[in-house]
Amino acid sequence: MLLGIDDTDSPAGMCTTYLAAVLRRRLERARLPVRAVRLIRLNPNVQYKTRGNAAVALDFEGGLISGFSLACSTVEDLAELGAEGTSPGVVAVDGPPPPAFYWKAVQDFCEIEEAVDVLDEAGALYRGYCGGRGLIGATAAVASDLTDPTYEVLAYREPARFGTPREVDSDSLFRADAATFPHTWDTVDRAGRSVVCVPHTPDPVLFGIRGERPGWLMLAREEVESEPPSIEEVFLTNQGTDAHLVPWTGGPLRDGISYYLEGTLAASPTTARGGHVSFLLATGDSFVSCMAFEPTKGFRDTVRALTIGDRVLVCGSFKRGTINLEKMRVGLISAMSVTKPPHCARCGARMTSAGREKGYKCRTCGGRSREPEMVPVARSLTPGWYEVPSSARRHLARPLCRGPPTWDGGGTKMSPPATQ
Ligand code: ATP
Repeated sequence: MLLGIDDTDSPAGMCTTYLAAVLRRRLERARLPVRAVRLIRLNPNVQYKTRGNAAVALDFEGGLISGFSLACSTVEDLAELGAEGTSPGVVAVDGPPPPAFYWKAVQDFCEIEEAVDVLDEAGALYRGYCGGRGLIGATAAVASDLTDPTYEVLAYREPARFGTPREVDSDSLFRADAATFPHTWDTVDRAGRSVVCVPHTPDPVLFGIRGERPGWLMLAREEVESEPPSIEEVFLTNQGTDAHLVPWTGGPLRDGISYYLEGTLAASPTTARGGHVSFLLATGDSFVSCMAFEPTKGFRDTVRALTIGDRVLVCGSFKRGTINLEKMRVGLISAMSVTKPPHCARCGARMTSAGREKGYKCRTCGGRSREPEMVPVARSLTPGWYEVPSSARRHLARPLCRGPPTWDGGGTKMSPPATQ
């Protein structure tokens, strides 16, 4: 039996994953044992999201109607029902609906009616509150197809502490990372020496540790020193998998879709006000603007080291006319050179400029030349994959510590079907 829930929080509080952790305990007290709890990230470019566009699914044993009514009463107890934009959805179904709806919700945009059609077809019980937009995420969560599962352990705060500053010892987080990286990731930002896994928002999350297997999460978790959590939950997730990326197969790029595409630098990178670095990529007969935003910090230095003619595969969401870079593979790097006045062909002395667009002249013997000397410059960049730091990574983006993307020969699992 599967329960799906989404859209229960507001910027002022709550978190659908916390609600799932509470519901798990309520189901078990009602003798409905829970086999797994899923934390499913959906299209990161959806405008309705509160924070990370997460939905949850609980896989349990027992009566569908009892599970559904406990899920509804938990949403009624805990969801921010009065808050503007909070629009919960609760779904109960006795088996997963076809995964196509999940892939559409993670890679594209869906309508509530499409979710309802999937639910009716599957014979599901469902209930939407305050418009029921959450039915989209709830349906996607129960239909989720975890071809490359990862895990996250989330620790939640005592309700009395909600909204107060969190007490988590940062040294202990660095120790947790040192003991388990690369099997866990994004606990801390290794380059920026900052903590990543402790949120600053007023929700119930104390910290979360992401990784390949529950065993690695537990090793890391044991290192963490913090205020006493109220409850903890291990989620099965699609985080760190690139499930949102689709290959660009030609035609106009669509706003809000996340792509991977290859091309050649058509213009050198430039840094704009605010520190954002962008370049133009030529793909076939079209040009795509690509941007590394200021929060991507040192990644921008890699982008700045690119030059015209470099062959690059970029990954990221297309928003407002530009690909927001998440990572890139630098393939062939072109030779780079600078111009210098040449040596005189007659006497061998170094020539000097003869004036704007007048070539060069020799001050020793009066010799002339139009062509400069081309001096090769060593490239600081080497071919390979480069990514934004942990502090700027999206939940769905596959970190390079997991190996190169599955569609680029890394990993062991299939890549998601494209929706284009
Ligand atoms: P929460 O912790 O409550 O899950 P969140 O940041 O995940 O917070 P939500 O409050 O759930 O964001 O808001 C996201 C809304 O967008 C939900 O109603 C969800 O059903 C809907 N949604 C998710 N993916 C899509 C999609 N691909 N197309 C259209 N709507 C979507």
